[in-house]
Amino acid sequence: MTESTHSHQAPAYIEFGEYSTHVPKNIPIALEQATGRFLGNREARIAEMPQWEELRQAAHEIRLHTLLNLDLYLELVEKQVVAAGGVVHWAVDAAEASAIVVDIARQHGARTAVKVKSMATEEIGLNQALEAAGIQAYETDLGEFIIQLAGTGPSHIIVPAVHMRKEEIAALFREKLGIDAPTDPLELAAIARRILRERFLEAEMGISGANFLVAETGALVIVSNEGNGRMCTTLPDLHVAVVGIDKVVPDWESLTVLLKLLARSATGQKLSAYTSFITGPRRTVGEGGAKQFHLVLLDNGRSRILQDPVARETLKCIRCGCCLNVCPVYKHVGGYAYGWFISGPIGAIFSPQILGVEAARELPFASSLCGACADVCPVKIPIPKILLHLRHRVVEGDEFEKPAAPAPLRASASLGRVALSTPWLYRLGTRLLPFLMAPLRRDGWLPALPPPVNRWTRVRPLPAFRGGFREWWAQRQRRNGDRDSRGSP
Ligand code: SF4
Repeated sequence: MTESTHSHQAPAYIEFGEYSTHVPKNIPIALEQATGRFLGNREARIAEMPQWEELRQAAHEIRLHTLLNLDLYLELVEKQVVAAGGVVHWAVDAAEASAIVVDIARQHGARTAVKVKSMATEEIGLNQALEAAGIQAYETDLGEFIIQLAGTGPSHIIVPAVHMRKEEIAALFREKLGIDAPTDPLELAAIARRILRERFLEAEMGISGANFLVAETGALVIVSNEGNGRMCTTLPDLHVAVVGIDKVVPDWESLTVLLKLLARSATGQKLSAYTSFITGPRRTVGEGGAKQFHLVLLDNGRSRILQDPVARETLKCIRCGCCLNVCPVYKHVGGYAYGWFISGPIGAIFSPQILGVEAARELPFASSLCGACADVCPVKIPIPKILLHLRHRVVEGDEFEKPAAPAPLRASASLGRVALSTPWLYRLGTRLLPFLMAPLRRDGWLPALPPPVNRWTRVRPLPAFRGGFREWWAQRQRRNGDRDSRGSP
């Protein structure tokens, strides 16, 4: 396996934070409806499976075992894909992965490509790289088709356009496609299908990701609810798959465990509508499928994550999106607030590790640590524990990275630690604070703090500190005692 020379640069074609400029106002309502439906369905499916917790434990063990033996399984993948007639490429980072795909396209004279859902290609900014090389890439999942028209990225792992209402999609179709689009979802889907059908037939190249890679046979596994996966991977003569090295599973038996968990955790289905298995190119004239198959195995920092015994569990993720559906923060701010293609709790731990904490230093703090994500994760990723681990990395630094928090913040965190662990200092502070704040206080609020502590009050006022909890509690007890001694009316 190629050793990663990870440099913590953001992918060449996407700037961290680019997506956050498109934050629609109706996000909480749209998200509540969609995620509530998924979670309700999930509950129903779990109720049918008394062995759910055993499956989660087995999935955790399979994923961890695979990660700890990844070099062996990746070598097996390569051997089996080559034996099946495919070509395997190793990409150290985003720029190299994009360059490989562009090269393959050029060698085959491809001018247009159809794509089926691939988070890995979002991660490397492949569409922008193809466009720069004069190759037009068309997204073909309905949600991806919509956000490509809108010029944004996905706002949810499995429902990229979850934040958009049908009225907004109809308006987008009218504006970008010049079609009189009604607001009926079936009509909108039919319009997209008509356009996409032409593109499937014209494209010289199909590009996909994969949900899993089965090492035992080198099979690519694509799970979807639309038929576009099969169209993209079988209609064009050339199929290129870009897959993160963490997607490997040892064998078919392991895969069945993960497939049982994936759709149930994602949308509450027993199984997605389509589960495609692709092993190399077609081997006989009568067989369906592409004539040429290339597999690009993407590292992009994953080897580095693997070295960290705490953070490596991030790579167990099977991208079901369930942690987004339960996250109170995600449901209020939406996916674009996370600044990159992968959002929610998994984004908050994945992005800082791939991009580096300097670029994404705020994400580990974008959590209330309620633990709902870890409770539902089908592969038992301890997300709150990893968030705390990354918070420590941001503030203190560790053997993997230097601290990224600004010096004033680090100094105030150190002061806070001393104050909170020294009772007499804490008591003194709680007595002094109301006096120190007096010049800034207006009706119990602090409407404007001076820099550098004014980030919050630039947006909204801060409640003024009114005293320590113990004093407040003692006062409350005294008040209640007085009332009790007066007796009930
Ligand atoms: S972290 Fe767990 S719950 Fe979240 S997307 Fe990954 S597998 Fe699903």
